[in-house]
Amino acid sequence: MRGRSAAAVVFSAVVSTALVSPAHAEAPPDREPVATGFGGAVSSVDPDATAVGLDVLRRGGNAVDAAVATAAALGVTEPYSAGVGGGGFFVRYDARTGTVSTIDGRETAPAAMTRDAFLGPDGEPRPFDELVNSTLSVGVPGTPATWQAALAEAGTMTLAQALSGARSLAERGFVVDQEFHDQTAENAERFADFSSTADLFLPDGQVPAVGSVFTNPELAHTYQVLAEQGAGAFYGGELGRAVVDTVAAPPVADGVTRDVLRGGMTLQDLLDYRALERRPTHVVHDSTAAGEVDVYSMAPPSSGGTTVGEALNVLDALDEKFGETTDPVQSEHRKLEAAALAFADRNRYVGDPDVQDVPWHRLLSPWYAAERACLVSQDEVLPRPVAPGTGCSTTPVETPEPVEGPSTTHLVTADAAGNVVSYTLTIEQTGGSGIVVPGRGFLLNNELTDFNAEPAVEGQPDPNLPGPGKRPRSSMSPTIVLKDGRPLLAAGSPGGATIIGTVLGILVDRLERGVPLPEAVAAPRVSEQNGAAGASAEQAYVDSERGQALAAMGHVLTPAEGEIGAAAALEFLPDGRIQAVAEPERRGGGAAGVVHPDDK
Ligand code: GLU
Repeated sequence: MRGRSAAAVVFSAVVSTALVSPAHAEAPPDREPVATGFGGAVSSVDPDATAVGLDVLRRGGNAVDAAVATAAALGVTEPYSAGVGGGGFFVRYDARTGTVSTIDGRETAPAAMTRDAFLGPDGEPRPFDELVNSTLSVGVPGTPATWQAALAEAGTMTLAQALSGARSLAERGFVVDQEFHDQTAENAERFADFSSTADLFLPDGQVPAVGSVFTNPELAHTYQVLAEQGAGAFYGGELGRAVVDTVAAPPVADGVTRDVLRGGMTLQDLLDYRALERRPTHVVHDSTAAGEVDVYSMAPPSSGGTTVGEALNVLDALDEKFGETTDPVQSEHRKLEAAALAFADRNRYVGDPDVQDVPWHRLLSPWYAAERACLVSQDEVLPRPVAPGTGCSTTPVETPEPVEGPSTTHLVTADAAGNVVSYTLTIEQTGGSGIVVPGRGFLLNNELTDFNAEPAVEGQPDPNLPGPGKRPRSSMSPTIVLKDGRPLLAAGSPGGATIIGTVLGILVDRLERGVPLPEAVAAPRVSEQNGAAGASAEQAYVDSERGQALAAMGHVLTPAEGEIGAAAALEFLPDGRIQAVAEPERRGGGAAGVVHPDDK
């Protein structure tokens, strides 16, 4: 394996007996979008997962333990978005040292992957669906290594203890809700192509009914194996061998005639995998409502931290240039322009920093933002797509829209000591590759489709082409904001490339406009990606007075197919309480909880 500049996080096998988590009633806990109180907090998209995380905090675990426990539970109840077959980015504030650190648990291309891997015999990119529903797009999963690394670094529990709640949830099952039902139904056709997937998610050939109890004893067993053997069971052990066998020979169902493309993952690829400690991105943002804050997020190979950070810097530069504004349309106009500029740079410069030079310190420097801001006017909209790089030229470049779906999941945790975790994890598409590892109860990712099959702009270097041992560029933006060195906010969201707009929107609403966090999370969303077709926006955004005023200025707002993102966030209130915030509506509503609610 080629060398990596970041320090490899060492994980060691943990052999220990799992704690038995207390059984609770089959009915899922209530979905509360907002919870305020003391003693720690969890927010995720799912009430069972949030309950598992809170249970860990109540039993004395810290924010890291709770984050791993919640993530593992999401692997049970949100198996189409997250699980041990995928990867993610873990951002953590340490209350003892006052520092933010990150773990890059991104899926990685096998050593056998070539630059042309996604091109067909005619030299043209293969159809996207063909790549998704294949093992060619399966990256070496990073999630088990992330969990073990996070616990080793800053947890108080063993992996066995942190997985205990999720294991019993998988055993006793959860009540199928409309969201799980609908996601299964949307994927039923491709799930039926693989016998292991159909056996698990389409019992008796049917989509599980709303209100029925869905159990996953095979996943419970997988968690038991991890509990007993540590992440080594995955990276070279029995679970890893099962992954490699599945990639080599996916269990294609009888009668399926289409060619399922195969990847070249080997056991050595799993042995070589490392969850990496990386320095977070950091910008100092001079916000109107909260004053000067430090915004930390995920560095490359995610483009989340650089793109959100650059956009915030451009907003600061625009305040310098034009003066601060409280006008809602002007403020939103500036946000969209800043996002377009930052996206141009993201597409041109951000990829795996261990494979090529990624100038992310430059992208995040205030002088660079000041140069970018020279293009922006107060009353005219920059023609899209804007060009990357510095200078006041507006020559547009053609950049295709990224193909990324609304999958993935985000969670935040905090504990009584003030430690905070902001963690986004994924298997890429909703349902990943559609291929369950037989007998193991989890889906394999299709994360490598986040590579560009060919250069996005002809004749221009592309940092995100496939390559051996390379990590595809992500948009995940798990973010932690500090005020005077202490945590103020944590936020993140799923949604592929729209994640950046969702996180930027929440930060701008909360920090610039002083909107309370629950309203900032619930607000109609827009995703400006510097596309020629304009920004994609939720219908409520398009229809709003502000949306119409922006359109009148020249912003092109294209209604999104459905909702954008599914955020989870938390805030430390001035009186010392924590407010956990989840979606009130999107994805059927999320679940926020605190250890000691105000009203109890
Ligand atoms: N693969 C996407 C990324 O890394 C996440 C998938 C999604 O959120 O839809 O940015």
